[in-house]
Order: sequence, then structure tokens, then C-alpha cells
Amino acid sequence: MATTQSPVDLEKLVSLCKRRGFVFQSSEIYGGLASTWDYGPLGVELKRNIKDAWWRTFVLARDDMVGLDAAILMHPDVWRASGHVEGFSDPLVECKACHQRWREDQLEERKCPACGGELTEARQFNLMFKTFVGPVEEDAAVAYLRPETAQGIFVNFNNVLTSTRRKLPFGVAQIGKAFRNEITTGNFIFRTREFEIMEIEFFVKPGDDEEWHGRWRDECLRWYTDLGVDEGRLRVRAHEPDELAHYAKATYDIEYDFPWGWGEIQGIANRTDYDLQAHSSASGESLAYFDDETKERIVPYVIEPSAGVDRALMTFLTDAYVEEEAPTASGGTERRVVLKLHPDLAPVKVAVLPLSRNERLVPLAREVFEKVRSSGAIRGMVQYDDSQSIGRRYRRQDETGTPLCVTVDFDSLDDNAVTIRERDSMAQVRVPIAALVGELSGRLTA
Ligand code: ATP
Repeated sequence: MATTQSPVDLEKLVSLCKRRGFVFQSSEIYGGLASTWDYGPLGVELKRNIKDAWWRTFVLARDDMVGLDAAILMHPDVWRASGHVEGFSDPLVECKACHQRWREDQLEERKCPACGGELTEARQFNLMFKTFVGPVEEDAAVAYLRPETAQGIFVNFNNVLTSTRRKLPFGVAQIGKAFRNEITTGNFIFRTREFEIMEIEFFVKPGDDEEWHGRWRDECLRWYTDLGVDEGRLRVRAHEPDELAHYAKATYDIEYDFPWGWGEIQGIANRTDYDLQAHSSASGESLAYFDDETKERIVPYVIEPSAGVDRALMTFLTDAYVEEEAPTASGGTERRVVLKLHPDLAPVKVAVLPLSRNERLVPLAREVFEKVRSSGAIRGMVQYDDSQSIGRRYRRQDETGTPLCVTVDFDSLDDNAVTIRERDSMAQVRVPIAALVGELSGRLTA
């Protein structure tokens, strides 16, 4: 089979996402809101599967991790103490001719990328969205939408410690929305002002931090490759000293080779004891750990793997997109688009398809569908589809990444067997209906 592997161009991906219900432009009927996107019926499944896969790997499968779900709105002093009010900013420049605004550190030359005009001096632009809590718009009521979930973990450090009796090293994981008033957005869901983030704050003894930093870098990279991302299109890049965030001693970025070039999908920062120290002194409450062995109170160091859900989704989609020549039933070939998503991520796991809408086939196909769906053995969505020709339905399922199709045909009425068709190889095997659920779940977890 002649295969054209990614790089898929961005336009094709955006169009597939809209056509098949992965991602829609937000507020589209009002002309859309720049760089804001909504996840459609398949997108929401894919996104949930990504978050579930991440939670399974980094929380449920480990005995040194617990979870948390902190509020988006926090006391404004949190952001003063953390340094975000002062330092969470990007250098903003404006074109003196066309007045477009740019992030200076993302420009290759010091002139306007749109019109070539002269740029103003850079000024620091704070990325936090400000709002007001309660009915009065006054300074005393200012609140910020969180630009990261990490601070919710730091301020709960004592609560987690006393409620779980954890010993170092241990980590706290959290998945949730974050907001950044980015100066420039773009590349579809890659850079938006509202996004979701999967974060871990992993607390270690000072001195053990560098070793754990390396371990987390490797484990995070492995998460993507275990879920099928091409190793050759991933790389790890250490931050230069002048790139480091205000809290970081060292940071690795995991980058993916997107259609427009390398882009960060995850950061792994060594935040030292910066945040716990800052909140201890600002709140007056000691955020420290009592070491039973040395009988000393220590402030742990923190390794922070922080991954964007939307960027992960963009990575999995880009990496899974394949166009290839496939044989047709009549002996010719046709071009098919396939999303070769890992079965754990695929929005629909199994599609049950009667060969046609024949009145004898439909009841049996519905029965097979209910049996598979209600078995509880398929972790995710099972779909029934009897519209259009079987060939078109296969193509549609290929294009949305469904790993397995089950076809009920006229022979099924006599032999009580159905055909399983595999997405990637297109191989077909006949299995008795009685053994179907076991066969399907075995293939999905193989
Ligand atoms: P960038 O340099 O691309 O602006 P960053 O270094 O500021 O990113 P981090 O603060 O390390 O990003 O955030 C952790 C992760 O959150 C990133 O690796 C990315 O996956 C995700 N993320 C950050 N900003 C955005 C955004 N504007 N839109 C979507 N995802 C984002």
C-alpha cells in the first residue's frame, strides 16, 4: 500500500476536524471568536480519552501520586506571592505603521511581519486575565483566571500532606482549564487563550531534584510514544538560561514536528522550592515537610511536568493522519484517509454496521450492537451506523480513527457469525457472535 505519512497540512486537518465533528470554531454563527474553539461529539471523546490515558499512567498506575481538582478562581494574593502579577508577562511590540501587535521573542527580525514597518520598544504585557468577584468593579475585588493549575496544588500542600500522610517523594496531579491573554495566537488549537492543562507537581528532597527532573523527562516522553506518536517527530530541548521562567532552575521542553515546524507540547520544569517558600512567607503558614529520618523540617523541591491537553490532541491527530491507496471491492484502488490513532485514544472503539438496511439484517445488527455496548468490556464508545453504502461507512470510520468495525451480513443470519474489519490492515476475520466481545476487547488492548 502506497502511504503518504504526515506531515498533513494544517488546512486538511482543520477541515477534517470540522467535517467529522472533532473541533468547531467557537461562536461560529456570530462570525467566530478569534482563536477560540469548541470540541464536537468526536473531539470531546478524544479529549476525554487523552485525559483518562494520562490519569491512568501518571496517577492510577503509580503509588507515589494523588490527584486534586482546585478552583479556577483563587485569592489574588496567590498570584502576587507566586510572582505572576509581577513577572508572568511577554514582551509586546507594536508596529508603528499598521498597529498590529507581536511577541518580540517570537520574531525572527526586528520589523513587522505583516507590513515590514518599524516596531515600538518592547513593554512587558501581563498574560493573566483579570476579572472582578462580586457585583463591584473595584481594585479590592480583582481576581485572576489562573494561567496554570500549579498554584492550586502549592497552596493545598499541607492539606494533601495531612490528609494522605504521604512521604517524599510524592506528586499531586491536576487537570483543568487555564487562561492566558496571549499576544499572538494561532495554528488552530495550538495556541489559544483558553486551554486545558495536565500538570504534576512532584515534591522531592532538595538534592534529589536533578535526578527526578531527568526521570520525569523520560517518562513524559514515553507517554507519547507508548500512545503511538512517532519517536522521530519528537524531541527534547533544554531551555537556554535566558528563556527560563521566573521560577525555574532548569526546564526541558518536549517538542513535536508540526506542519509549521517544531512546537512545544509539554514543559518539565525544576521549580525548586520557589513556590512553597513564596507562599510560606506571604501567607505566614509554613509549607514544609517533617523528615522522620533527620527530624528536620524541609521545604521540598518541585519537578513540574506540565502538558497541554489541546496540544496533545493536536499532536495525536497530526501524527495519526495518513492518506493511502487502498484496494476496492471491484479490484481497483482508491485513496483513503485514515486516522491511525492508538485504540485507547480513538473516539469510537467499535462500529457495528449491517451490510445494508435490509429488514432482516437490521434487527440482528442492533442486537449485536446492544450486546457489545452493554458488555462493559469495551472501554469507550460503540457506534451503530446503517446509513449509505458499506464502503462509505468503512471510509468514514477510517477517517475518524475507529479501530474495529463489525459487519453483519446475510450469512450472519445462518451461521451466527460476523466479520471484524481492522482499520489499519483492513484485514477481515469471521468470528462467532458468541465470542465477539472477547475478540474485540482482546484486539483493542493487544
Ligand atoms: P509557549 O512557549 O508555547 O508559550 P509556555 O512555555 O508558556 O508555552 P508552559 O507555561 O510551559 O508553556 O505551559 C505548559 C503547557 O501548557 C505547554 O507545554 C502547552 O502544552 C500548554 N500551553 C501553554 N500555553 C498554551 C496556549 N496558549 N494554548 C494551548 N496550550 C498552551
